[in-house]
Parts: sequence; structure tokens; C-alpha cells
Amino acid sequence: QRIIITIDGYSSCGKSTLARQLARHLRYIFIDSGAMYRAITLYFLRSHINISSNKQVKKALEDINLEFYYNEITGENDIYLNGENVAIPIREMLVSEAVSEVAAIKAVRAFAVAQQQKMGEQKGIVMDGRDIGTAVFPNAELKIFMTADPAIRVERRFKELYAKNPNITLEEVRHNLEMRDYIDSNREVSPLRKAPDAIVLDNTYLTIDQQLKLALGWVKE
Ligand code: C5P
Repeated sequence: QRIIITIDGYSSCGKSTLARQLARHLRYIFIDSGAMYRAITLYFLRSHINISSNKQVKKALEDINLEFYYNEITGENDIYLNGENVAIPIREMLVSEAVSEVAAIKAVRAFAVAQQQKMGEQKGIVMDGRDIGTAVFPNAELKIFMTADPAIRVERRFKELYAKNPNITLEEVRHNLEMRDYIDSNREVSPLRKAPDAIVLDNTYLTIDQQLKLALGWVKE
């Protein structure tokens, strides 16, 4: 029987890595919900939307169309913003710096959550994010809450970003992760929380293969 698997947790705990691998093994669909908030943020930045104006935000959301398409070459599920593949630009620091503020807006969450729930009507899905096990799919069959030592998270994310942009500094990455975790945990609408029935997965001392094995074991249970 195909199920819904949710993976939530702080920034850079390796949620997407695990979600992607689980989906590959189980032949499920992988949805990176963070990519949706990032694409919305990219649109807001490009269109100079004033996020304190409800009217501007509402109008902007009406003009945003998000879709995921499987990329045969990379094996990734790329996100498209109004027909444009934005998988690369949504990872830029400018977006990372603004995304948590955008994701805290009620109308933005309602917009994203409605689409995520629609995707979940098709069983056999792994979705990662911050509120997937609490707000998006409270009835999901398997919920995982990932954690990892903050210093390790900074280091992992730094390595990943440095490969693409050698100008980035460790401090910049640390500051961004701390800021996002703070905003995500303290916002009014569905703040980042562990669902009561979620299994905690601390991967500080786990390899990618070890964490995958653990999670696959939970799927079978
Ligand atoms: O997963 P990722 O780190 O790319 O997500 C970027 C940001 O999007 C998070 O820091 C958070 O502010 C927001 N987000 C969210 N709810 C989700 C997924 C992401 O608020 N389900």
C-alpha cells in the first residue's frame, strides 16, 4: 500500500537528501515544499512586492503558477515558476535571506499548503519541509522529524554552497540558518514543530546510507 511520508525539521538537516532517496527507492513522488516558498520569494523579489502590503501579496499570488517537472538528465524534480525552470536561482543567498519572512505570511502559506495537499491526493509521496506532518498532512502514515548538531549543519550547507560560489563565508551560512530557524519556529501560522507522532531522526553521526536504511525500516513497519 502506498503511503504519505512527511519529513520536517530545521534548516540543512538533510531532509531533502533523505526524501529524494526514499522516493527513489520506493518509486514515490518527492516534493520539496521549501522549493515552493523559495519560488514564491523569487517572484516577490523580482517584482519588488512589498510584503507588508496584503493587497500586493494577494495580487502577486494570483499571478504565480508553480509546477514540478521531473528532469530526466539530473533525476531531480525541478520547480517551474510561471513556466520557467527556477531550480537554480531559488538557491541563491538573496532568496535564502528573504524566504522565511515570506513563508510566515498567512496568505502565502494558505496558497502553498492548498497545492501541497492536492499533490497528496496521489498516494506514494514523500514531502519535506517544516509543517508537513503538522499542518499539511496531519494524518500521514509515516512522519519523520530530522535534527542534527547545528555546527554540522552549518558545515554541510557551507560545503554545498561553496562548491557553487567560492565567495560565500561560513559566517554568512551560519547566520542564515540561525535566522531561518528562529523565524520558522516563532511565526504565528504553523510554526516549525515536531508532530506528536513523528519519529525523531538525529543524523549528526549517521551516514546518508545509514539514515536511509533506518527510514526504509520504518516504512515497512
Ligand atoms: O527547505 P528549505 O530550507 O529550502 O526551505 C526554505 C524556507 O522555506 C524555510 O526556511 C522556511 O522558511 C520555508 N518553509 C516553510 N514551510 C515548509 C517548507 C519551507 O515555511 N513546509
